[in-house]
Amino acid sequence: MPTETQRRCPDCGVAMERVTPVTSVDGEVLRLRTDEPKKGILGSLGLKETVQPYGYVCPECGLVRFYVDADGES
Ligand SMILES: [Zn+2]
Repeated sequence: MPTETQRRCPDCGVAMERVTPVTSVDGEVLRLRTDEPKKGILGSLGLKETVQPYGYVCPECGLVRFYVDADGES
């Protein structure tokens, strides 16, 4: 079982709740495309790496931050 990364609100110092950003229309997970090309044969085809960010919401002040966790998806 992966261990969730603990994020803390920079203003309140409380633990932020992790949420999965999805679109309201069809529930697709938000993805970010990086400028780093994929390695190997996919990179030679010009495909770019995509990563999945997670949202972190502060329950105190409502601050939202996005992080790409290194082990966010497996
Ligand atoms: Zn806060």
